Amino acid sequence: MTDLEIAKGVTLQSISSIAEKFGIDPDTIEMYGKYKAKLPLQSIDVKKAAQSHLILVSAISPTPAGEGKTTMSIGLTEGLNRLGKKTTVVLREPSLGPVFGIKGGATGGGYSQVLPMEDINLHFTGDFAAIEKAHNLLAAVIDNNIQSKTRSLRLDPRTIGWKRVMDMNDRALRDIIVGLGGTTSGIPRESGFDITAASEIMAILCLAEDLGDLKRRLGNIFVGYTFDKEPIYAKDLKAEGAMTALLKDAIKPNLVQTMEGNPAIIHGGPFANIAQGTNSVIATRMGMSHSEYTVTEAGFGFDLGAEKFFDIKCQSAGLKPKAVVLTATIRALKYHGGADLKSLTEPNVEALKKGLPNLEKHLENIGKFNIVPVISINRFVSDTDEEIEVIKDFAASKGVRVALSEVWAKGGEGAEALAQHIIDVVESNTSDFKPLYDWNASVMDKITTIATEIYGAEHVDYTSKAKAHLRKISNLGLDHLPVCIAKTQKSLSDNPKLLGRPKDFIITVREIEIAVGAGFLIPITGDIMRMPGLPATPSSEGIDVNDEGEITGLF
Ligand code: ADP
Ligand code: MG
Repeated sequence: MTDLEIAKGVTLQSISSIAEKFGIDPDTIEMYGKYKAKLPLQSIDVKKAAQSHLILVSAISPTPAGEGKTTMSIGLTEGLNRLGKKTTVVLREPSLGPVFGIKGGATGGGYSQVLPMEDINLHFTGDFAAIEKAHNLLAAVIDNNIQSKTRSLRLDPRTIGWKRVMDMNDRALRDIIVGLGGTTSGIPRESGFDITAASEIMAILCLAEDLGDLKRRLGNIFVGYTFDKEPIYAKDLKAEGAMTALLKDAIKPNLVQTMEGNPAIIHGGPFANIAQGTNSVIATRMGMSHSEYTVTEAGFGFDLGAEKFFDIKCQSAGLKPKAVVLTATIRALKYHGGADLKSLTEPNVEALKKGLPNLEKHLENIGKFNIVPVISINRFVSDTDEEIEVIKDFAASKGVRVALSEVWAKGGEGAEALAQHIIDVVESNTSDFKPLYDWNASVMDKITTIATEIYGAEHVDYTSKAKAHLRKISNLGLDHLPVCIAKTQKSLSDNPKLLGRPKDFIITVREIEIAVGAGFLIPITGDIMRMPGLPATPSSEGIDVNDEGEITGLF
């Protein structure tokens, strides 16, 4: 059965009864149909949130298909609820581009899904559309200012980094010329489109504390320089008020349900390379305000998403996570051990053993944040008992907890062992989260710390362009911002081909972007895709809808 077919077999509860179960008055929610709602920001209770145990689900270095963090997060939530702990899962919103591309949706899989999955994966409650509009409003205001004879800020068009965004995998829009068509149609300049998830506004929305903070951050978006080399921010164009107005509903977290009828919150969806890769601070706090345990996910492997989750989001919002679930799949470990991508479903203990150093490095990295890990083996039907024993033996030799999780095949029942480990870790109170670096360290020190400690690099090189960017950052007085390193997710290094646990490599910072609104710097270490393309056979070919409005073929 496909994920959609399994999802359709579940009788959904009304969103009012889910709100009640979550612990808030159903009259206060804003309904988006029968099964989706926006939660009022007034339902956040910072004191209660501080009592909730925050659990991060991360993973080893992934294969292109994803290792099952979302599926694991949902299954663990069901498992904790089964063991009597009131638990809410808080996740990112899917982006439309990947839905029609290769990867598929972001609502879990098998018997661990959030529902209604077809709505969540398509337009959901319109947050992405609102972000796109707010982003493109600023773009339109910029070009309008360049065109203006009387109110021009004398922006140098060649210094403008703000592009337009659209939530679609459309490579043809990556690089374009805007302003063609003569004197009434703008000043021609080079620009392009990114996918909406890559918008700085997505990153901003997900770090904002409230509407006021959102507006302040939007005003701080760096636009470019004047011909006299003065920096121009969105607030200089008086854009932030209208942009915030467009986002007044998008800032509210969305309530849906899991397959076993537990509340789930889904809000925001920034990338995990050029942005922090995790749902909004507001959504996490909302979940924590009404739950004993709150389970969340950070994109890609631990080196990318989790490091940013800890050093950017947790630092920014004052969160103290209590445990990390390190999702590992036998197929990915075999891949790290040199097995061919096409042979991963065949038993191969040799390759699996060779791939274990990747798991080992991620475990060591979790320790650097002073948090206790639990390895969760995400079981695939092709996994053999012998292979599973290899990971269990490895965990025992390291003194690390490990659970075999069958969340995809069995839902919450398949996560009870993992849930019990998490409860034991939390109740033993052995984690004491500390960030990896101090935001006040120099930019180069911050980058070096992450590159050497987390990635395992020998040292960091800078291109002359990156060095010029370091000077620009200093001149703008932005050295105190945390760094959000954009790197491939496929390897611990910046070279996607180096699998396993690479050693003696050098990380090269090629440029450093600034996201003042979001509140971080983005050192770029490779080719980072901000506008993906569709594959030769896009998933969209298999998606359809019948005369009754029922969707088919969505994963
Ligand atoms: P991530 O969050 O790490 O990107 P997802 O949870 O979204 O990964 O899972 C990626 C894909 O793999 C989804 O289509 C999901 O249904 C599938 N998947 C996850 N776990 C399993 C499993 N144990 N067996 C089969 N398919 C799985
Ligand atoms: Mg995911």
